[in-house]
Amino acid sequence: MNKVNVGCPRCGSLNVNVVSDVTETTKGFGAGKGCLGYICFGPIGLLCGLIGMGEGKTETNTYRVCANCGARFK
Ligand SMILES: [Zn+2]
Repeated sequence: MNKVNVGCPRCGSLNVNVVSDVTETTKGFGAGKGCLGYICFGPIGLLCGLIGMGEGKTETNTYRVCANCGARFK
């Protein structure tokens, strides 16, 4: 991560922290549904659940938070 001299747009302070938010979105079968599949269909159901887990998306949102006034900005 490169350090950019970007001041806070609200108060102009350069005391800014970069924060990363990782959001996981799982589509289709999740871990819980995989277990459910195991109960209903045995190992094949569990396998389907595990394969479905691979389709989960991970989104990373990076933003800056001013340590002086708490403003959040990109
Ligand atoms: Zn600020």
